[in-house]
Formats: sequence, C-alpha cells, structure tokens
Amino acid sequence: MKILILGSGVIGVSAAYFLSSRGHEVEVIDRQSESGRETSYANGGQLSFSHAEPWANPSTLPKAAQWMFKDDAPLVFRPRADLDMINWGLKFIMNCTAARTQKNSVSLLRLGLYSKKKLEQLRSYSGIKFDNRREGILHIFSKQKDFDHAGEQARFQEKLGCRADIVNTQKCIQLEPMLEHAGKPIVGGIFQPLDESGDAFIFTQELAKLSAKEHKAVFHYNTTIHSIDQEGGKITSVTTDKGVFKADAYIVSLGSYSPIYLKPLGIHVPIYPMKGYSITFPTNHYTPQMSLTDGEHKIVYSRLGDRLRVAGTAEFAGHNTDIRPERIAPIVRAVKELLPKCEYDAPLSEWACLRPSTPDGPPVIGKTKYPNLYMNTGHGTLGWTQAAGSAALITDVIEGHNTEISLDGLTLDRY
Ligand SMILES: Cc1cc2nc3c(=O)[nH]c(=O)nc-3n(C[C@H](O)[C@H](O)[C@H](O)COP(=O)(O)OP(=O)(O)OC[C@H]3O[C@@H](n4cnc5c(N)ncnc54)[C@H](O)[C@@H]3O)c2cc1C
Repeated sequence: MKILILGSGVIGVSAAYFLSSRGHEVEVIDRQSESGRETSYANGGQLSFSHAEPWANPSTLPKAAQWMFKDDAPLVFRPRADLDMINWGLKFIMNCTAARTQKNSVSLLRLGLYSKKKLEQLRSYSGIKFDNRREGILHIFSKQKDFDHAGEQARFQEKLGCRADIVNTQKCIQLEPMLEHAGKPIVGGIFQPLDESGDAFIFTQELAKLSAKEHKAVFHYNTTIHSIDQEGGKITSVTTDKGVFKADAYIVSLGSYSPIYLKPLGIHVPIYPMKGYSITFPTNHYTPQMSLTDGEHKIVYSRLGDRLRVAGTAEFAGHNTDIRPERIAPIVRAVKELLPKCEYDAPLSEWACLRPSTPDGPPVIGKTKYPNLYMNTGHGTLGWTQAAGSAALITDVIEGHNTEISLDGLTLDRY
C-alpha cells in the first residue's frame, strides 16, 4: 500500500519506520529541512513509560487558579478571544474529576508500557543509538502534600502492574548521589525503574535515515502542506507548495497543527498547543546521571551524553513559539536551587515549542470518518515516550489487524 505521512516529527517518523519495514511504500512530507525540527527537537528527553497522570487531574484546578496570572508559574493561561482555547479549556476542566483521571491514566499507562515493549524491540533489531540511559526516572518532592499526592498515584498505578517505589530522602540520594548537594529540602521521591531517557531529535533523525536506507521510505522536506483534499467521502490528495501528492492512505501527524488541516474536512479534534521551554548546557562533575523530575516546579532533567537538558513550564498562548526570557528564568532558577553546583553559565541552547495537547491527556490514534485517512497525533507531554507504541498501533489499524493493546480511550470517537 502507498502511505503518505503528514509530518516528520518523532510520531510521523516512527510510523514511517514501522510501516516501511512491513513493506509499504511510505512517503513523508514536512515543511522543515529535516526530521524532528519542531516539537521533537529539544524536549525533556524522558521516556516516562510509567508516568500516567494526565495534567487534567483533581489537584490541578486549585493550583491553576493560583498560577493563572503569575508569569513564573509552571502553568500559565493567557486568556484570549480564541474559541478553540475556550472549548479545549472547558473539556480540560471536565476531565479533572477523579473518575476521568483514573480512566485517562489507565489509557496512558497501557500505551506507555506498550511503547516500552515496542521501543525495546526496535532498539534491538535496528541498533539505533540516541544517548539512551536506562536506569529509571526519580521524581523528587519538596512539599509533603505533593509527595503524598504522588504516592497515591503510584499506589494506583501499581495495581495496574506498573512498578513505582515510594522512597525516602536517603534513598533518593542513594539513587542519585548528586542530590546530596541539592540546595533545597527533598522530603521524598517516587522511583520508576522502568523509565528511561534519550535524545528524541537524534532518535528521529537516525530513524528517518534507517527508514530511507533500509526500507526505501521517501522524505519530502521543505514542503508545506496547504490542504488535505477529499472527494466523494475519500481523501484524494494532499496539496503542498511543491505540488500534489497522492496515496492509498494518509496519516495526519502534524503535531499542534493537525486540527488546522482536519477542520475543513469536518473533523474537529481538540488538540491545543501547550507551549514549553528547555535549556541545554554542558555537564560537569555535579551533573546527575539519572533522569529527574522536580515535582514542585514540574521540571524534568535528562543527561544526554555530555549535555544536561532541563525542560518544563506550560503556557497556553496559541501557536506562538517565541522564547520569552521571563519563562526561561524560572527554569534557570529551579536548576540553581536544586543543583547549585551544576552551573548554568554556558547554555548551549534555549528553546521553546508546542506540545500538541488533548484536554484529557491521551493522544488520538486510529481511523477517521474517511476510510483512507488516519490520525496519529495529539501526544502532548508524552510524544517521545509514546512514539514507538503509537507507530505499532497505527500500523495494525491500517493493515486491518487487531491491535495488540486496546484502543479504548485513544480514538477520535471519545470526543
Ligand atoms: C518543553 C517540552 C518538553 C517535553 N518533554 C518531553 C519528555 O520529556 N518526554 C516526552 O515523552 N515528551 C516530551 N515532550 C512532548 C514531545 O516532545 C511531543 O509530544 C512530540 O515531540 C510530538 O511529536 P509530533 O511528531 O507529534 O510533533 P512535531 O515534532 O511537532 O512534528 C510535527 C511535524 O509536522 C510538521 N508540520 C506542521 N505543519 C505542517 C505543514 N503545514 N506542512 C508541512 N509540515 C508541517 C512540522 O514541521 C513538524 O516536523 C515535550 C515537549 C515540550 C515542548
């Protein structure tokens, strides 16, 4: 089958690899000059397969009310006359109940653990290298209330077969000795041994090269999509600034831009850009080895070879990707507070991009009302983590097989 994938981020490229390795004729279109140049470029680097608590949960709303107008808060809404944002926000609030959070956590965890399995298989037969570290992720907490809340979630996830160890301060330091130099109190942590870290951009680039070299996938870069065209209830082509592309099946993986091209087809998917920032700087003797999540500031740390990536913050401000110094500043402050000896004097880069976020948390994978149009998009804060599992699922859906895990909570019809 000839399959056209729209978007060459980590999600589009992973699907390109899975589909082309099954013998399909795969072409990928992207407006950038290479794969992985937008949201998959400098993310937090965490492969947090066992992190299943969506942003929409009962503890977020009271905090969001306090954060709303603080420029250095982990989550910032910039109220604007944007109907998509308002609709998304209402759906987000509806998903903050305990029952919805549990349901969404189950869907996220199922996809996370499946993604671990599929990434392991991919890594073993492709030999792909991407500054991968596999010693787990340690979530640390400075406030007892946050630690207690995380403990409840860990116990809930354990019932679903996902290991998460609740550990005291001493054990946190034993797991990551650099925390001995922390400049703030740590009341405890949650250690998730199944989790990993790695560079999503290197992975995306390497996988695109493997797909092209070993499975003849074709990548059309510097090609901007204008429209997805339909006739008689079927997709007939995709129009770009470089001409018209035709295929038997089409997959939309355009990150935060997916809804823009789906709307004219009568497909309304609530994906809204949640802007985030990262900084990257060289490692020194005091750089942690283990990937960390600072629960107080919602900031993640991943050692990627000889670089430390620190990422976080969420801001709702449309499709704007400007780097705003007042949003970088809280990340720098958080690093200096947690790791005072890990100096931020020589930044290699500062970066901002848009997480394609659904209001409930899980992505949208599978069929649409057009028989030859599929979606694999809306992965929000977990796209790097979920890329391999999502690619395997969309491959099975397109080939008409039963998927290995249930698609419940992942398909478009949940909206
Ligand atoms: C600060 C931050 C930290 C993060 N940390 C983590 C983390 O630690 N772990 C994790 O799992 N996830 C993390 N994420 C989320 C993760 O990066 C995303 O979920 C993932 O990159 C989404 O991949 P994608 O392929 O859907 O989108 P993208 O990578 O954005 O790919 C979409 C592609 O579509 C192309 N495109 C869009 N419009 C057009 C058009 N009109 N024509 C042609 N091409 C077009 C773009 O050029 C782009 O290449 C983080 C995100 C941010 C912002």
